[in-house]
Amino acid sequence: MADLTFATLSGDYTVIDGATIEDFTGSLHGESLRAGDEDYDSVRRIWNAMVNKRPALIARCSGTADVINSVNFARENNLLISVRGGGHNFPGNSVCEDGLMIDLSRMTGVRVDPSTQTVRAQGGTKWGAFDHETQAFGLAAPGGTDPDTGIAGLTLGGGIGWLSGSHGLSCDNLISADVVTADGRSLTASADENPDLLWGLRGGGGNFGVATSLEYRLHPVGPLVLAGYLVYPYDKAREFFALVGEFTADMPDEMNIITFLATLPDGGGKVCRTLLCYYGPIEEGERIIRPLREFGPPLADDVRPMPYTEAQSLALAPQGRHNYLKSHFMSEVSDDALDITLDYFDRVTSPLSSVLFQYLGNATRRVPANETAFGHRGARCEWATNAVFLDPGESEVHIRWVRDFSSALAPFSSGPYINQVGTEAEEGEEAIQAAFGDNFHRLATLKQKYDPTNMFSHNQNIRPRI
Ligand SMILES: Cc1cc2nc3c(=O)[nH]c(=O)nc-3n(C[C@H](O)[C@H](O)[C@H](O)COP(=O)(O)OP(=O)(O)OC[C@H]3O[C@@H](n4cnc5c(N)ncnc54)[C@H](O)[C@@H]3O)c2cc1C
Repeated sequence: MADLTFATLSGDYTVIDGATIEDFTGSLHGESLRAGDEDYDSVRRIWNAMVNKRPALIARCSGTADVINSVNFARENNLLISVRGGGHNFPGNSVCEDGLMIDLSRMTGVRVDPSTQTVRAQGGTKWGAFDHETQAFGLAAPGGTDPDTGIAGLTLGGGIGWLSGSHGLSCDNLISADVVTADGRSLTASADENPDLLWGLRGGGGNFGVATSLEYRLHPVGPLVLAGYLVYPYDKAREFFALVGEFTADMPDEMNIITFLATLPDGGGKVCRTLLCYYGPIEEGERIIRPLREFGPPLADDVRPMPYTEAQSLALAPQGRHNYLKSHFMSEVSDDALDITLDYFDRVTSPLSSVLFQYLGNATRRVPANETAFGHRGARCEWATNAVFLDPGESEVHIRWVRDFSSALAPFSSGPYINQVGTEAEEGEEAIQAAFGDNFHRLATLKQKYDPTNMFSHNQNIRPRI
């Protein structure tokens, strides 16, 4: 086997001889891929087409043993590593240039225990597969609104979804996890074992190790929920946002809502859209959303009873486009923030780009600020602007639009969502601190305990600190 050149954690390069590589790849039950191998490109390319990095080696782990061997190999050789769960992270942290990519996309087993209303799923599972299994028992856990996102990345950073109003964030429902830490041990993090690690996993991102499986509390949901889009003319956006502000101020726990500014395809022009999901009795949901429907004749109204799994697919974002996103948590959508939002959206640079306000849900806000690592319990909604485009040659203008827009809204922000923070080179450590607020120092101390050499650094990174 040929020698391979790897990027190291120290920022330089090291050559590992073919025999050592062969010892490592031979220790894996899953396959390993390098440039030139048939599946190499399809595995290193992820949801966001902007990300085009080339790992020196990809370990397609089949289970915990492969993850342990990969972590040990990386540590012994001081290699740069990245961890891929669902591959949906905007800045593409799951793929590293010239390092070792620990790929969990084959680790997708899900086991529901209906008697305890819990589920254990492997670290490469996506929400679509997770929901499919849990709904077979009439159960669900709060997850993301796109079935193609990974349960691990999303949960470790928080996880805002359709059930957050009643049941909080995904991380609030994480009961335990098995984690391979930097020293190559597989630890269980739960209320009884390593509870400090469980605290950090509930919102602290992928900083503490590789989560090979995650256990969640489940809740009875469905099979039908009331969900779908209401679409209003763009020139009514200001009044519509005012109405949504009132609506969300005292909406019931079962109601969850995202409001967008977007452009319809085929020259349909700009619109104001709201995507909602209510998972109580359907007639009650119809009654509750009446003010939104009666706001005016909508351009489109496809809110209807549908299976929960269909509601979970309504926000599916196509793969293979270029995406650049920034986010802010906000305590409210003030008139001034809305003025800025409309001003920027008037000048949107791509018809595929959108702005959204995702409401966090009542139960999310009831959890005390330091009970988990998630940093923004006081926020009412997440603002996120996503520039989407097909031609990489245009990236500068679209990225500039998002950056300027985000800077203009910074005075209204309590910090970004850790799951949406860009690369450290672009955002710096201040963005990470702002994403965690008062929990940051406790997280840095926990990082020192579980990953003192910062092996898990190719992520929204918390540096170890005593
Ligand atoms: C289209 C789209 C829709 C989204 N919708 C929502 C939403 O509704 N709600 C919401 O809260 N967020 C949403 N997000 C953001 C999402 O939470 C993050 O992008 C998240 O990182 C995706 O997780 P992943 O496993 O797919 O990520 P990956 O890209 O695979 O990984 C991202 C990072 O997570 C960590 N990680 C992943 N798996 C593991 C693991 N098993 N062990 C340890 N670390 C791991 C690593 O640090 C890795 O760098 C959305 C993102 C996209 C692109």
